[in-house]
Amino acid sequence: MPRHCRSPGCTAEATRYGAFCTSHKATLRRHGDADQRGITKADLKAPLRAIRGRVERNSGNPVWGQSEGRWQEVVSHAHAVLARQGAGSAYVRQAASETVKLAETVEARTVMETAFAVYLMADQQPRRFASDRAFRVQLVRRLRGLAEANAGTWFDHDTGRMKRVYRELPPQAAKVMGEWCAKAFGAVGLFLARMDREQREAAARKADADRAAMTAALEALT
Ligand SMILES: [Zn+2]
Repeated sequence: MPRHCRSPGCTAEATRYGAFCTSHKATLRRHGDADQRGITKADLKAPLRAIRGRVERNSGNPVWGQSEGRWQEVVSHAHAVLARQGAGSAYVRQAASETVKLAETVEARTVMETAFAVYLMADQQPRRFASDRAFRVQLVRRLRGLAEANAGTWFDHDTGRMKRVYRELPPQAAKVMGEWCAKAFGAVGLFLARMDREQREAAARKADADRAAMTAALEALT
């Protein structure tokens, strides 16, 4: 008897040995969860603006340099993996090679700000991330998206234009790279996201209080 795909609301048949239909299986591989929709560059625009604002307002604070330092440590580790022949599994070597490529094409500051923006977005819109695993895969996707070298191009005959293709990382390699990026940026990213939320909540409380005071003042008019 055919089984249904396990993704909620999907009526397609599951693959012979899997829990999902072919389409959700592909999404799982690509995005880290069968129900994860890819986080786009456009999705990150507002969180990135907020992070850059915070960095600029606190340009003298050492935390940015320290975070870049943590990223450099990850990059050094990746270099070490690649330098030792046979070190690490194929997935670890792939993660290392992607990490080095990213560091060579994108400034540490941009990598850091983008990573923090993903943490901020996850705090603001938790439902856009299906699971922790999916979060890390999206983090890696957005960081890899910064490196144009990752994007091949092909000619789209329908539109007559060149299109960019995002080269997928195998799931295990994405998982490894996600762990490294979380190690570099996770603690500060979570701190910044919480700080942002607390400040927004405080601002909302103040706006409420101001409105209540205005209402009271209007009611007191004779
Ligand atoms: Zn499905």
